[in-house]
Amino acid sequence: MKKIINVPVIIIGAGPAGTAAALELARRNVPVTILNRDRFPGENNICGGALSHSLKEKLEIPSEIIDQEINSVDIHYKQHRQTVGSAHPQFLSVKRNLFDLFLAKKAVAAGANLQNLFDVRRIDPEIGRVYGRNTDTGENFAYQSDLIIFADGPNTLGWSTYGIGFDRSQYYFVAIDYELDSFEHGLNEFKFYLEQEHLPAGYFWVFPKKNIINVGVGSHCKRGDSVYYHRLLKDFIGREPSLKHLTVVKKRGGVIPAVPARKFVARGAMVVGDAAGLVNPLTGGGLIHALKSGEIAGKVAALAHRKKRFSERFLYLYTLRLKCTPHYIWIRFLYVIAKFHLHRSNQRKTGFLEPLLVTYFYLMKFVFRVYKKL
Ligand SMILES: Cc1cc2nc3c(=O)[nH]c(=O)nc-3n(C[C@H](O)[C@H](O)[C@H](O)COP(=O)(O)OP(=O)(O)OC[C@H]3O[C@@H](n4cnc5c(N)ncnc54)[C@H](O)[C@@H]3O)c2cc1C
Repeated sequence: MKKIINVPVIIIGAGPAGTAAALELARRNVPVTILNRDRFPGENNICGGALSHSLKEKLEIPSEIIDQEINSVDIHYKQHRQTVGSAHPQFLSVKRNLFDLFLAKKAVAAGANLQNLFDVRRIDPEIGRVYGRNTDTGENFAYQSDLIIFADGPNTLGWSTYGIGFDRSQYYFVAIDYELDSFEHGLNEFKFYLEQEHLPAGYFWVFPKKNIINVGVGSHCKRGDSVYYHRLLKDFIGREPSLKHLTVVKKRGGVIPAVPARKFVARGAMVVGDAAGLVNPLTGGGLIHALKSGEIAGKVAALAHRKKRFSERFLYLYTLRLKCTPHYIWIRFLYVIAKFHLHRSNQRKTGFLEPLLVTYFYLMKFVFRVYKKL
């Protein structure tokens, strides 16, 4: 074992939640180290890359990161098709590898220390020590800190070590996406397909990017059978005349939490983004919530560092601030609506996600307005 490196704040994971927290800490001159298992942030992050347009200005996203600005959403349900449009762009379509790298560069430019290829394997919560392995050199490492921020996605170590964050025995989405090669697709809207006969508790999506089309399927479940969802997606592509002739260049899959965490902090620990279950429980969209929770956690962590107070009671300030955001209130509101469905599905009774989703998508004009405010 190499020597133990002491740092004031450790963040596990360099997704949007982790880098948002790091940016706030670095801006307040708090030395922060992000441990990330991939070669670079976003390398293996799986995502449709649909973002609220409100983030363009807020994050100062440069145009080369944005594949398309989206004004309208096309909803397909049974024989019906409805287009909900707006004179102004409502969404951004981005590629996650570029987007995550852009966010990480911002945090590093502000002073954060990013350690790629650092896979965290074990944590000792009593002393705040993090053990892992450099996936390139195979060397073991150990870091110690007063404060650990878990930004490590749905399989968070926060749950197994501190009992905070998303509990994987709860409901989640299985989501699979494919990238289809298409240089001149001419698509300029997001498309959602609700097809009860093929997929009773989820939806298919078609999101245009530069030179490719991202097609995916997301569905609530308790035990994910990814082979089944790959088959559903292949069948969907085969049924769609505009997609079936295109070549699949990438296939990926992952899980998304569908239930917000009960607890967000413990002594010396906080949890953000997907690791905290902060996701829209109807659609599985989590980017905007990851960014917001990371931002708040970073600010509270900086305050904790300045005051040298890392008790659960002090860090509860993060929980309080988070719960007062329109982001959390929105997730909670949708979760209350989805809860009964999840409960029924849990008891192996028929859920009713489809009518919920149909209502959600048909109220898209209202949803546009909500996301503008987030
Ligand atoms: C198929 C699919 C499509 C999606 N489409 C959309 C969409 O269009 N719009 C939207 O808003 N949301 C979408 N989501 C959800 C969105 O991807 C997540 O909500 C978002 O990525 C959460 O960000 P995060 O920073 O919390 O976690 P992540 O982005 O998952 O980042 C976690 C980071 O932690 C690292 N990490 C994990 N464990 C360790 C460890 N032990 N040691 C070191 N590093 C570790 C990972 O490598 C990763 O970089 C989609 C998800 C899926 C699966």
